[in-house]
Amino acid sequence: MHERILIVEDEAPIRDMVAFALRKADMEAIHAADVEAARIAISDTPPDLVLLDWMLPGTSGLELARELRRDTRTTRLPIIMLTARGEETDRVGGFDAGIDDYVVKPFSTRELVARIRAVLRRAQVDSDGVAIGVLRIDHTAHRVYVGDAQIELGPMEYRLLHFFMGHAERAYTRAQLLDHVWGGNVYIEERTVDVHISRLREALRTHGLEGLIQTVRGTGYRLSEAP
Ligand code: CA
Repeated sequence: MHERILIVEDEAPIRDMVAFALRKADMEAIHAADVEAARIAISDTPPDLVLLDWMLPGTSGLELARELRRDTRTTRLPIIMLTARGEETDRVGGFDAGIDDYVVKPFSTRELVARIRAVLRRAQVDSDGVAIGVLRIDHTAHRVYVGDAQIELGPMEYRLLHFFMGHAERAYTRAQLLDHVWGGNVYIEERTVDVHISRLREALRTHGLEGLIQTVRGTGYRLSEAP
């Protein structure tokens, strides 16, 4: 563990509150009060994730986010933006700048830590792979294992599972799955999702793991370790 989280925030009380919550969650907190200090901290030792306040004196957090995305060394560095309530247009701009998630102030540190964990896990899924229980996805090799046994999946079932493993414990509607897994620009009926979900479950059933992909009544599907 001990992920290093860089907190870029000009308000010291918020920085301290977040740092306290991170240490309690077994993570290391690094402080920066402005973009200049953040640049130095990042070039010194890149953190595992940046918590970036939107409103900073001088250069804004959004500008730093864009800068980090442009630099090949930090292009995949996970960023969670801290925004003030009601800055919806700003949030859209944040996603354009390639941020991974945002948290609206005032926030609960519990929620913040949960978001940090989710983003870190997603980043890990995309870079090399991640395990949930005995199920493991190796994204570099494009392979899925249960223990030592490899499971054969079709291309869509692989993409579905890859998405779910990076977004575990959250329910997604069929429309959201079409957007995230198939891509928003294609026209495909929502029923198609059900077809691929049942193929994925079939492949997992061989290993007794069909319960991992759960139907959420009235919503859609979720990957969860909890029965
Ligand atoms: Ca601020």
